[in-house]
Amino acid sequence: MIHSIEHTNREQIEHFKLAKLKASLLYLESFSPYYQSLFRKHNINLDIQSFENLGQIPCTTKTDLQNNNLDFLCVPKSEIAEWTTTSGTLGSPVSFGLTQNDLKRLGRNEARSLMITDCRPSDTIQLMVTLDKRFMAGLAYYLGAQNFGCATVRVGSGSPGLQIDSLIRFKANVIVAVPSFLLKVLEFAEKQKNDLEEIQVEKVICIGEPVRNLDGTLNNLGERLKSKWPKTKFFSTYASTEMSTAITECNACHGGHIPADLIHVELLDEEGNNVPHGEPGEVTITTFDLEAMPLLRYRTGDICKFLIGDCPCGNKTQRLSPVLGRKKQMIKYKGTTLFPESIYELMNGVEWIKDYIVVLDTNELDTDDLSVMMSVDEELYNQNELEYLEELFRTHIRVKPKIELKSAIEIRKIKFPSSSRKPLKLLDKR
Ligand SMILES: [Zn+2]
Repeated sequence: MIHSIEHTNREQIEHFKLAKLKASLLYLESFSPYYQSLFRKHNINLDIQSFENLGQIPCTTKTDLQNNNLDFLCVPKSEIAEWTTTSGTLGSPVSFGLTQNDLKRLGRNEARSLMITDCRPSDTIQLMVTLDKRFMAGLAYYLGAQNFGCATVRVGSGSPGLQIDSLIRFKANVIVAVPSFLLKVLEFAEKQKNDLEEIQVEKVICIGEPVRNLDGTLNNLGERLKSKWPKTKFFSTYASTEMSTAITECNACHGGHIPADLIHVELLDEEGNNVPHGEPGEVTITTFDLEAMPLLRYRTGDICKFLIGDCPCGNKTQRLSPVLGRKKQMIKYKGTTLFPESIYELMNGVEWIKDYIVVLDTNELDTDDLSVMMSVDEELYNQNELEYLEELFRTHIRVKPKIELKSAIEIRKIKFPSSSRKPLKLLDKR
C-alpha cells in the first residue's frame, strides 16, 4: 500500500503524511509524559492543518533526551521487547526501548530498504555489522532480511578472516557493512592471496559512513571499494537510533528516499526555520508509528540537503543528501569553516594512509587547532607523498592541518577506547 502512495504525487504523499502526523500528536498527548508536559507548558494547539503549523512546537534536543530519558517512554516497561542505546558519540548514550510492534516496524523498514535496492527474497545477506552491544542497526537489518525472506549470515563486526571464510562458504550476494571496515576486509583478503573476484558480491548496503558525494558519484571511500570489486553496486544509507528508521537510496543511487509512513524530516537553520529547498540544514525528525519512544521535531545535529527534482525510479518521496557533517563538529580554522567529513574524504583517497584520527583542539587565540594523526604503509610512503598530501589539503579544503605520524598500534589504541562502541575518527578536545 505504501509503495503505491509513494509513487503517486507530492500532494497525495503530503496528505498521507499529515494524517500520520495528526495520529502521532494525539498519541504523544495521550501517552508521552515528556510531550504532555511540553504541550501544556507551551499551550500547543494540536489541531494541526499543515506541516507549516509544526513550527509552533519547540524542537526536542539531545540534551532533552539525556535529561528526561524515560519520560519519553509511552508504554509501561513491561511492554518493552528490546532495549538499545544510542552510540554516545556526542555525549552520554540515551536508552531506547522498542515494543514488539516497533520491532516489526523496524523489520518492515529494512525489508523496504532491501526492496528498493533491488534485492530479492532468494538473496543471501552477510551481516558485517554489530548485532549486539545494544546496537539497533544490526538488529534492524537482521529483522528486515528475515521479513523479506532472505537468508542471513550473522558474522557481526570485526574478524576479517571469518568474514572472508563466510563469503567463501555461504557465497552471500549481498553485504551490509560499514564501508571503511569492508575496505579493511578486502585488503586483508588481498594479503591472504584470496581471489577477490571469487568472493565479489552483487550489492553492498553501506551503513555509518556515506559512499557518495553530493552529485551522486562515489566518494573516495566508495571508489576504493569499487576498485577492488568493480562489479559490485554500493548503496548509501542514513539512519540513527533516535530516528528508528533507515533512509536508503534506491537503485538510481541519487539520495536516500524518506519513507513517508515512518518519518517526517525538516531541515532547519540555527533559528529553527526551514532552510530554502536545496540548502543545507539540520535534520529534524518526527517519527510515525512508534509505540515505545516516538520523537517529535528531534534535532539530530546532522546537516543534510534535500535533493531537487524527481528520482528516475518513480518514487516521489523527498530524497536526502549524504550527511555533510555534524553541527557540533563544525571546525572554524584560519578563516574557513569546514566539517571533519571533508578531511576524512580527502584522506580516504590516499592509499598509503593506513589509518587516521582527526584531532581538534582550542589554541590560546580561542580558535580551533586542527591536526591529523596517521599510520602509513611504509612501502608506499615517502617525503614526496607527504608533500603531495599537504598540497591536497591546500587545494581541496584550503587548510593544512598538522600531520603527526604514529605507529599502527598507537592509532589503534586511541581509535578503540574502551568507553566507545564505534571506532573513533575524531578526537574533539575543544
Ligand atoms: Zn529512487
